[in-house]
Amino acid sequence: MNTVTSEDRDQHDARPLIACHECDLIQREGSVPPGGALRCCRCRAVLYRRRGRGFDRALAFALAASVLWLISNAFPIVGLAVNGDLVETTLIGAVRVLYRDGMWPLAGLIFVTTILMPALQALGTVWLVLPLYLNRRPWHADAVFRLLRVARNWGMTEVLMLGLLVAVVKLAHIASVVTGPALWSLAALMLLLVAATSAFDERAMWMRIEGAPPGMPADTPLHGRTAAASGICVCHECGLSTRGTLRHDHLCCPRCGAHLHLRKPASLSRTWAYLISAAVLYVPANLLPVMNTSSLFGAQKDTIMSGVVYLWHSGSWPLAIIVFIASIAVPMLKILAIGYLAATANLRMTQRNVQRARIYRIVELVGRWSMLDIYVIAVLVALVQFSAMATIEAGPAAIAFGAVVVLTMFAAMSFDPRLIWDSAPPREERR
Ligand SMILES: [Zn+2]
Ligand SMILES: [Zn+2]
Repeated sequence: MNTVTSEDRDQHDARPLIACHECDLIQREGSVPPGGALRCCRCRAVLYRRRGRGFDRALAFALAASVLWLISNAFPIVGLAVNGDLVETTLIGAVRVLYRDGMWPLAGLIFVTTILMPALQALGTVWLVLPLYLNRRPWHADAVFRLLRVARNWGMTEVLMLGLLVAVVKLAHIASVVTGPALWSLAALMLLLVAATSAFDERAMWMRIEGAPPGMPADTPLHGRTAAASGICVCHECGLSTRGTLRHDHLCCPRCGAHLHLRKPASLSRTWAYLISAAVLYVPANLLPVMNTSSLFGAQKDTIMSGVVYLWHSGSWPLAIIVFIASIAVPMLKILAIGYLAATANLRMTQRNVQRARIYRIVELVGRWSMLDIYVIAVLVALVQFSAMATIEAGPAAIAFGAVVVLTMFAAMSFDPRLIWDSAPPREERR
């Protein structure tokens, strides 16, 4: 990957100014070769990644993903062969069983993250890219673009795939597992959604729809100041730096319509509120049973940790390690990491800014993987329903655990990374 760092060279430089969405520093934009990325000279955040030319690849990937989404939801994912009978489940079938058992928060969470959001990801990309491919303007591009950004945050096909793998290994101890066509199409869907996202050049899309951005206002103080100090907001959705336009009493991005703020409102108090709720729920999530198994040999209650121990003793130690990391270590480390970021922002710490910015990026990246256990439980509950022999039901800890994952994701989203840099004036920083 080619990386160009924009640096302060010359105050009379003709290159356009750009503000960093993570640290708010105004800097000059360097030219980026195709496939390269422009990074912030202070916090190293990726300001812009230049994709290949044209929209045909993104369109092809998104269309193929739409077809695979249909296959993934129409056919069974996995089945269990017991005494000559085959019990199979589709994705929506697993959601329905959880809903029927009274676990509707869990059913809703699984429906949104594995069915609804991946569909919006594929269709949203087709919606935006198909008209551009035909040299037309996409209808309601601003709203669909913001919806696509939400869908990318909450669509978790890749975590679902790992969850299915763990579930298949666990089920193989109970009966013989039959993989369904949807399992393979989900794997392909996962790859195609990643390919469609990485082939889609959003900046090129806005250039085609709206023309070149107007650039920063003429009276913007030169390079080396923060955007906020110049009264400029960086749009968190499309990356445009503007003074914003007023719509319905809100300052909005003139390009994509997202709400603009110099800093996220009440960022630290909201982060703490989500974080404390997550920390409180982390206790029952680990102490109460996530799964209740009743069989001919009696009833058994499994916590997350006992599930890990079971995998370890049954010889699947790589999966035991993965489940331990995703379900126990990641949520705890995430709570600690966001707590550290929020506390140091509260105390206006001025050191280790680059490391703290890196921690913030890692937290955003790995948080979603904690959903793993939720998907494992959903598949086990949907398949192991042999009333006389064995039945698995989701336990109360599953809802607490799902809430921990969602609350820590909200905490990370509420935290404004620019607060890390606000205590350190940019000029002193560089010296
Ligand atoms: Zn930056
Ligand atoms: Zn915008």
